[in-house]
Amino acid sequence: MKSLISSLFILLISSTAFAKDSTPTESFAWQKLVELTDETIGIGARPAGSDKEKETAAWIKEQWQTLGYTVNEFPFEFTLRKKSFTSSNLSMVIKGQSDKTIIIGAHYDSTGEKQGSLGTTDNGSGVAAILALAKRLKGQTLPYTIKLIAFGAEEYGLQGSKAYVGKQQESLENVIGMINLDTIIGGDKLYIHNAHEKSYKCNAVENPKYNSSSVLRDGLLTTSKALFADHSHMLHPAYDGYPEGQTGSWSDHAPFACSGMPIAYLEATNFAINGHSGNDGYSQTTHSDVWSCYKEDGKTACDRDSEKKWGMIWHTEFDRLDKLTTLFKNKLKHQLIQNVDVLETFVKQADKSI
Ligand SMILES: [Zn+2]
Repeated sequence: MKSLISSLFILLISSTAFAKDSTPTESFAWQKLVELTDETIGIGARPAGSDKEKETAAWIKEQWQTLGYTVNEFPFEFTLRKKSFTSSNLSMVIKGQSDKTIIIGAHYDSTGEKQGSLGTTDNGSGVAAILALAKRLKGQTLPYTIKLIAFGAEEYGLQGSKAYVGKQQESLENVIGMINLDTIIGGDKLYIHNAHEKSYKCNAVENPKYNSSSVLRDGLLTTSKALFADHSHMLHPAYDGYPEGQTGSWSDHAPFACSGMPIAYLEATNFAINGHSGNDGYSQTTHSDVWSCYKEDGKTACDRDSEKKWGMIWHTEFDRLDKLTTLFKNKLKHQLIQNVDVLETFVKQADKSI
């Protein structure tokens, strides 16, 4: 009996401790990440321009339609090594009290398939978040209109976001900001960035009006600190080439910053690591399995000349659920849910913070 009572007690404790994860909406994001990136039950790798990428677009469309939304699809072409490919962007709208619109976007293609990557963190995580947001925000009264966008072909030079902004696939007239979700789980820390104070190259946008305002970033950061005091999102400190909280132009936020709106970029990585090209966030984790040899002293490779892995999950053999679960256990699930919690709360309160 004693053992039965203590087992019941343990069961009670553990079910309480994990209650937050087991409610339907909170496990929804993780469930979608599994469906998208576990190749044994879902899609797996989805290189830009491939049939698998098209299958992913159809799947995202179906997910949003199942939730009761109208989905718009915007095809585009791009050229890679003199070959022509097609892809598409998808968007859906959650109408708010104001026509002023905040875009939340994530790319759905993946890369590194030859290395064994199934694009779980990059960027299955961002896709899972925009699907979960569609579910959580359904029927909610929101101060601003929210537009969710799934971008194609990011990994081949931001083709989807450049086409969306550059070809004006939809009007940006009422858009007051863009939040980019790219690799929001996996790295050691959860960051929120704004655009670099030094203008990106804005070739893809006609009449660029570069905007590096931190207003969206700061609003999201305040929300995260209020919800997750001791492990909230953070700004990376200033490093050579990257002032505090600022990021480069390597993802889908860049064309939007070039079109004159504030952007924020949620990303899980580790700027404190002195990686292959310095403290730029490309090395994501200090986990020893993701390094040939990591040296805590100096936060870099034991031997920078011979290091092969550099703590990089994205585009490598580590970016798949089976490997990630072995390396990080439940951590990635918690990171995913935290990101969705912050975004949901932020857009519900956005009139107070931006
Ligand atoms: Zn990415």
